[in-house]
Amino acid sequence: MPEYKAPLRDIQFVMNELLGSEQHYASLEGAEDATPDMISAIIQEGAKFSEQVLSPLNQVGDREGCTWSEDGVKTPTGFREAYQQYVEGGWPSMTSDPEYGGQGLPNSVGIVMSEMVGTANWSWGMYPGLSHGAMNTVEAHGTEEQKQTYLSKLVSGEWTGTMCLTEPHCGSDLGTLRTKAEPNADGTYSITGTKIFISAGDHDMADNIVHIVLARLPGAPEGTKGISLFIVPKCLPNDDGSAGERNAVSCGSLEHKMGIHGNATCVMNFDGARGWLIGPENKGLNCMFTFMNTARIGTAIQGLGAAELGFQGSLAYAKERLAMRSLSGPKNPDGIADPIIVHPDVRRMLLTQKAVAEGARALIYLAAQQSDIVLQGKTEEERKAADAMLGFLTPIAKAFLTEIGYESANLGMQVFGGHGFISEWGMEQNVRDARIGMIYEGTTGIQALDLLGRKILMTQGEALKQFTKIVHVFCKENADDEQLKEFIEPLQRINKEWGEITMKLGMTAMQNREEVGAAAVDYLMYSGYAVFAYLWARSAKVALDAMREGTPEEAFYNAKVQTARFYFKRLLPRTRTHVETMFAGADTLLDMQEEHFAF
Ligand SMILES: Cc1cc2nc3c(=O)[nH]c(=O)nc-3n(C[C@H](O)[C@H](O)[C@H](O)COP(=O)(O)OP(=O)(O)OC[C@H]3O[C@@H](n4cnc5c(N)ncnc54)[C@H](O)[C@@H]3O)c2cc1C
Repeated sequence: MPEYKAPLRDIQFVMNELLGSEQHYASLEGAEDATPDMISAIIQEGAKFSEQVLSPLNQVGDREGCTWSEDGVKTPTGFREAYQQYVEGGWPSMTSDPEYGGQGLPNSVGIVMSEMVGTANWSWGMYPGLSHGAMNTVEAHGTEEQKQTYLSKLVSGEWTGTMCLTEPHCGSDLGTLRTKAEPNADGTYSITGTKIFISAGDHDMADNIVHIVLARLPGAPEGTKGISLFIVPKCLPNDDGSAGERNAVSCGSLEHKMGIHGNATCVMNFDGARGWLIGPENKGLNCMFTFMNTARIGTAIQGLGAAELGFQGSLAYAKERLAMRSLSGPKNPDGIADPIIVHPDVRRMLLTQKAVAEGARALIYLAAQQSDIVLQGKTEEERKAADAMLGFLTPIAKAFLTEIGYESANLGMQVFGGHGFISEWGMEQNVRDARIGMIYEGTTGIQALDLLGRKILMTQGEALKQFTKIVHVFCKENADDEQLKEFIEPLQRINKEWGEITMKLGMTAMQNREEVGAAAVDYLMYSGYAVFAYLWARSAKVALDAMREGTPEEAFYNAKVQTARFYFKRLLPRTRTHVETMFAGADTLLDMQEEHFAF
């Protein structure tokens, strides 16, 4: 198993040099505590915890998995103790409201911790990760009483949270969900129904679990307009705030699955469990979007983590494994063969993972800064613009990063040859764990519809225009920089083309709605490569400027420029295929009659 090492130099590059975190935090309301020294100390501590406590449990979690009994679900050896340490370290409360026990740090600081935790041990990281979504939902939509009862316990980490959407017959199409909520005389509700695939639905890590559940009130309108949201605790809270008697909610069984074995994927039975309405009646899906958006950025981190872990493991291996000679003559003449890192194809695999991991870090941290502004921006105008930008970046980050993160995990395994397929090295686990990223929290297909349909076409491309304008200004400002030309020129082309293909798709969609569905995934992938092009060009500029100013660490900055070059020459051209297939026409997909698919 690769020992995870937090990539602190690159984290610092993206936060401070690329995205100017110091100025960013200074521009926020109430982020006075987020000083560079404070943030650096937090990240160092978080790195230690991830490397020393969580990383060694990653393979244990995979091997042992979770176990079910009538008394409840047991997590793998060491998970519970690691969680206790996490709670004692105050990690759950980092970004929450001080009024409920939080430390009030900006969301983007928490995202760095989530990256390190998630890369070291994704299955473990999902338990506190889901709690974060529950915290954000209660904070945004709960009553004061609900916040006092539940939020403070989630913030302290004494209780964890879950998100209960999926039912046996529906995941993407929540409009058809059936779980019922019957009002009781005391103002509570009785929740009845079955939810499946509920991550962290039951476990032995905390005293109580706060389920955030979608259900229907009697006589509610059909479809998504008739869904309400409820808090349903595993144990009912006592008057003193502690976890009391068991509620009528239980884990019926655990799913056996391809990866993330250390995380409990539960079938949850609600048998008239007591619940409390959160947010307005029939507006539950809107409220749940607070949770889903947190979880979508969380899942984007899974793509980054898969690429980073695969990269770390395969880089170390490629330097040591000897096989054949370099085509231009021996590079290790005293050895029996050259290390495989000399071979161009191995370098293709390593550089792809590196470009994906570092590009993903830039994209996720950029999105996290937008979420800081949504919550702590100084003006209404700033907050609104950031909200639109975050809404635009979220489906791209979620789907594009999990797709290319999975590809990277596969390349990490490929670098190991046959040994990659053997469990000992952890590379096959990385592939298995990463695969779910493209499915949960809205599949790639659903994210693509969200991007092209809701976020672009339904808003006349407002957020896209906002983004391409930023790119355009960046290109103009740097147009005369000879050393940057190799990045600026293709970036300018792609930025212009992005607007053009969007217009063209809008026109075709007006004639035939099916064209949206037929083009959506190609459009999303194209958009991901376009956003990456901007971030890689900006990274190259920061690195070139640093070298021109004679900053030490020339090797680090030079590698940045070289990775940017690799990205522009070898990954960005994939957009050509996406443009071609995006306009291949819905008829190439829909003409075939269902009964003719197989004979
Ligand atoms: C390990 C694991 C953990 C999970 N954790 C949670 C959790 O904590 N909480 C929770 O509520 N759920 C959870 N889920 C459920 C997960 O979010 C859903 O499985 C996922 O959203 C897909 O829904 P589905 O399985 O019903 O697939 P379906 O919705 O049946 O989709 C099947 C296929 O059809 C495609 N499709 C569907 N509709 C369209 C359309 N309109 N256009 C184009 N394509 C379409 C999909 O992209 C997909 O490829 C988890 C699932 C797993 C496996």
